[in-house]
Amino acid sequence: MTEPSRRPSGLRSWFSANGRLEFCLTLASITLLTGACVALVLVPRNAGPLQLATDEAEVLDTTEGIDDPRLTPVRRDLQPFGPILVRRVAVEGSPDALLVAHDGHRADLATLEQDLAPAIDAVSSVWGTDWNRAPVIVVAGTPAEFTALTRSAGTPAAADVAAVSLTGSYPPGTRPTDQRIVFNPDARRRVGDEGLATLLRHELTHVATRAATGDGAPQWLLEGYAEFVAQRDRGATFSQIAPTLTTRLRANTLPTDLLADAAFTGTDAAYAYEAAWSTCAFLADRFGADRLTTLYQRLAGGPQSAAAQDAAFTAVLGISRAELLDGWRAWLRARAV
Ligand SMILES: [Zn+2]
Repeated sequence: MTEPSRRPSGLRSWFSANGRLEFCLTLASITLLTGACVALVLVPRNAGPLQLATDEAEVLDTTEGIDDPRLTPVRRDLQPFGPILVRRVAVEGSPDALLVAHDGHRADLATLEQDLAPAIDAVSSVWGTDWNRAPVIVVAGTPAEFTALTRSAGTPAAADVAAVSLTGSYPPGTRPTDQRIVFNPDARRRVGDEGLATLLRHELTHVATRAATGDGAPQWLLEGYAEFVAQRDRGATFSQIAPTLTTRLRANTLPTDLLADAAFTGTDAAYAYEAAWSTCAFLADRFGADRLTTLYQRLAGGPQSAAAQDAAFTAVLGISRAELLDGWRAWLRARAV
């Protein structure tokens, strides 16, 4: 992800001149779908200048606040695909969160409506409450609509991605408020209700941490932290959360280093996500979730050299990289049963 303040001014003015929204996106943990994943990228939308939604957008089950300005771009994108349902979820100390889907995904909407408040609380319990807890969450109706809603991803693998979080541009030094999570139309069918709740927490963690996350930050920390928050206190076992990693551990194959960014794309991405989760789960287990969060805040602002990471390990955790790796491997070994 790239923070606006760090973008080259030329690019920034190009965006500005074209009047386009800038979106930064993360593709969700999709281990239960295909294992494919795409790193954080920043690309312009292809939609051209914003157009206001017209009143022709048909809304089913009309609810209060349908004229909420946050719905305008969503309605513009969904309008060609048919009438929409909208649900508002009250969030304490924050504007309402909005859930949007077509009638064919009414059950998905009901599941997300039930999951959202606990998911927001789960993320806040680790990250704190200073984040945009009022995102717009959309369930795409069809693969074509998912592609349209996530076109800023620019990825051909969009149909294989479970969910995407997107953040609109925001002034440096402020907190993002224009944030969306878009679910693949097949996500719930393929991962089930529990899996959908976990995906929601994972994506909400990316939403929450967005302002503290910069382009080139270590993927093991970004994805590991999101998955740690998503899985925390859910009662799933190690092998349920990390089946691929478990298989390798049982074959006496231990990771030799923290996962490199390249591991998070391609055919071995499922393993990378699981291993990254295990790194963060280990750190939280040994040092506490607060210090894991402090480490995230220290290292996720942008690219980090090995020396910078080593310095952060020493400053935040009081250990060297070698001690971290040894501790992680011992923690893993104890779970390879
Ligand atoms: Zn993610």
